[in-house]
Amino acid sequence: MANKMKVVQVTNAGGPFQIVERPIPEPPADWVRIKVQACGVCHSDSVVKEGLFPGIQYPRVPGHEVIGVVDAVGQGVTQFKPGQRVGVGWHGGNCGHCDNCRRGDFFACTVDLKVTGISFDGGYGEYMIAPSIALARVPDELASVDGAPLMCAGITTFNALRNSGARAGDLVAILGLGGLGHLGVQYARKMGFKVVGIARGKDKEPLARELGAYHYIDSQAQDPAAELQKLGGARVILATVTAGDAMSAVQGGLGPNGTLMTIGAVQSMEISPLGLLLGNRQVKGWYSGNAVDSQDTLAFSVMTGVRSMNEVYPLERAAEAYDRMMSGKARFRVVLKMGA
Ligand SMILES: [Zn+2]
Ligand SMILES: [Zn+2]
Repeated sequence: MANKMKVVQVTNAGGPFQIVERPIPEPPADWVRIKVQACGVCHSDSVVKEGLFPGIQYPRVPGHEVIGVVDAVGQGVTQFKPGQRVGVGWHGGNCGHCDNCRRGDFFACTVDLKVTGISFDGGYGEYMIAPSIALARVPDELASVDGAPLMCAGITTFNALRNSGARAGDLVAILGLGGLGHLGVQYARKMGFKVVGIARGKDKEPLARELGAYHYIDSQAQDPAAELQKLGGARVILATVTAGDAMSAVQGGLGPNGTLMTIGAVQSMEISPLGLLLGNRQVKGWYSGNAVDSQDTLAFSVMTGVRSMNEVYPLERAAEAYDRMMSGKARFRVVLKMGA
């Protein structure tokens, strides 16, 4: 039994989760083996569960919010050693030599773009192997369960905000107070922005303020665009929601040169080109980031005390954890803890 591991796999698109035993894999050259300690359950895991990602091969173990300990290294791996704690996020690797990689746009790699838990098996298991290029170092001060959600929800909000063009003191609104938004408010506050939380209902206001918002807009009772204009207009609105109409409703709240940064994965939204051109405004998306962006996210979170609120489940209850996440009722991220 010593050389076997438990993993939770999806056997076919739309099929159920299955707990199975597999041999513990050996890491090939430039890959490492990780003894997983915690893995977040992300909404994007549904693309594995439901077969929504092109070219996915089954059975597949999902999970791209991984924290664990390096257990063995393949040939040629010099920068990581057994015993080191590492994280693996959505970006599972890139070729390093195509033109896009040479320009530093690793997310746009045209030769070997890998996604953790999609291109190769992810963190819903006791062990996994990952390319060393995909690893982030984890600060000692950060508990593994705390670190896991920062590997996707954390980096996505942190990296979008720090690349948004907003400067200290600027009005920055966070649309939505869920898994992404509750981190977005905290990061925005710690980056020195004048933070506005926007969500549906008066009951979210205490939470928004507790997380660091200076202002709160209840989008059910108020017009969020008009309210933002009363505050001077937003330099950045970070849209974390998964509803296109909610994104459309806030764009009028952008100030001159303002950016609506969308990280909520929706198919479509309505945009007013007139509103954009009259105010030099833009609508922009942001890819979460690569391994070093994850590393920056973890370091910043330790430095400033940003953490996600988590509901923790043992690996054996992964199916239940996934359903809880999909219900939208989790407060706010769901995390699998190995050996719990
Ligand atoms: Zn994710
Ligand atoms: Zn490439």
